[in-house]
Parts: sequence; structure tokens; C-alpha cells
Amino acid sequence: MIVIAIANQKGGVGKTTTAINTATAMAASGWRTLLVDLDPQGNASTGIGVAAANRDFSSYDVLVDQVALDHCIMRSTIPGLDLLPATVDLSGAEVELVGVENRSHRLRDAFADHKGHDVCFIDCPPSLGLLTLNALCAADTLLVPLQCEFFALEGLSQLLQTVEQVQQRFNPDLGIVGVALTMFDRRNRLTDQVADDVRECLGDLVFDAVIPRNVRLSEAPSHGLPALVYDHSCTGSKAYMALARELIGRLPAQQVAA
Ligand code: ADP
Ligand code: MG
Repeated sequence: MIVIAIANQKGGVGKTTTAINTATAMAASGWRTLLVDLDPQGNASTGIGVAAANRDFSSYDVLVDQVALDHCIMRSTIPGLDLLPATVDLSGAEVELVGVENRSHRLRDAFADHKGHDVCFIDCPPSLGLLTLNALCAADTLLVPLQCEFFALEGLSQLLQTVEQVQQRFNPDLGIVGVALTMFDRRNRLTDQVADDVRECLGDLVFDAVIPRNVRLSEAPSHGLPALVYDHSCTGSKAYMALARELIGRLPAQQVAA
């Protein structure tokens, strides 16, 4: 299983939207896909139609009580897409795990020898705390959604610093598969300028596929559906399909399913 963490310590940059729709696109192309919700807000879980009342087990159980991963994963209504949901008690996990041995490796340990999925997306919370650290330690690679706005690059340098520390201390093989520009608005010149600056600064790391600001993407979660299912022909869905194609092309060949 190849593990892709979707992280950016800023809130509202499109992490959850990217996690849901990229995961859905890959499931639709035949990848057995696991979505791990690591944000106590549980937006990824709700966004694929799993209401809080139906989350019997969660990422909290895996991290804090070390309940077996297979026991906690549930099916979603989307074929090929399974979920490890999040519940609000996850917000206490950061504190509960303080002083616990292997606290940053709980998720990696849970993934060890996991069969049954080809790819896993981890939707991280908007911070660089212990939950995101668990994701970065468990991940093969990182996908960073970057909102096209003025301070985008400033936040990114902090994230890249954290990645470097994780590489040095915990996970030397952690890669960065790419940066995805989100909420792009063609009519806004500042957005355009930021996108140009980001490309100039990060070069090929930036995916060619750009996610536009698109109201269908923001409506879909309230229906409990990925945008790709809610309206597969809207510009947002098409952009996420293009992103997923590009992502697959960037994954290490030996890990790409036939
Ligand atoms: P994060 O997980 O980083 O906090 P979200 O994916 O939850 O970000 O996005 C924040 C808000 O913006 C949500 O209400 C979401 O529906 C909306 N949103 C995300 N991406 C887009 C987009 N490309 N166009 C329009 N709305 C978007
Ligand atoms: Mg989110």
C-alpha cells in the first residue's frame, strides 16, 4: 500500500476536498483505496456520507487504543473506497499520547503488513501537531494543497521544515509527490500572480492540474458525496480527475497497481 499524506497546517486550503476527490478518482480507476480521516472535525468522513452516528470505530481507536486497523475500517457507499473515520474524541489524542512510547509511530505501526488496499490517503488536521506527525511518519509521500492566496508560500516553508525534521528523525524515505494549487480563480489577478510565483519557486513540484474555485466542490459534502459523484462533469471534478492522473504518473512505478 502506498501512503499519501495530504497536509498543510493552514485550515481551509482544500485538504479535505483534495483527499476525498483524489481518493474517489483513484478508486474509480480500480485502485483499492483507503481514506484515513485524521482530523477531529471529521469532514472527510461526513463528506463521503458517513454520519457521526455511524462511526463505530475510528482513527482514535487505532492511535490511542491500538485497535487493529482492519477492525476499524468501514466501507463507504463509493465502490472501491473504504474509510477509517474520525470522531471528535480524536481532539484529545494529542494530549493522551503525550509521554506514550512510540507516540509518533502509532499510525505507521497500524499500517505495517496491511493488505487489502493499494493506496491510502490521509486527511490531516490544520496543524503540525502529533496527528500530522503520525501521518508524516506513516506516509511514503506528501501531497500539499496550496491555496492561491498571498501568504501561501510563507506557510509552505514552515511545512517543508517540518518535513525535513521528520526525514532526519523518523522517516528518511518521506517524499513530496507534489503541490496542488487549489481555489484558483482566473478572474482574480492576485490568484494568477500567486500561482505564477509558486511555479517559479517550486518548479516541477507543482502539479500541472490546477483546481479551480468551483461551487459544486463546496456543495457536494452537504450531500455526503464526493464532487466526482455529485457532479462528475463540473470543472472541479474534471480538475481532480486530471490531478489524480498526474499523481498516478508520479508514483513509484513498482508501487503502481497493474
Ligand atoms: P481544509 O481541509 O484544508 O480545511 P477544505 O477542503 O475543507 O479545506 O475546504 C475548505 C472549504 O472550502 C470547504 O467549505 C470546501 O467545501 C471549500 N472548498 C474547497 N475547495 C474548493 C474549491 N476548489 N472551490 C470552492 N470551494 C472549495
Ligand atoms: Mg479538512
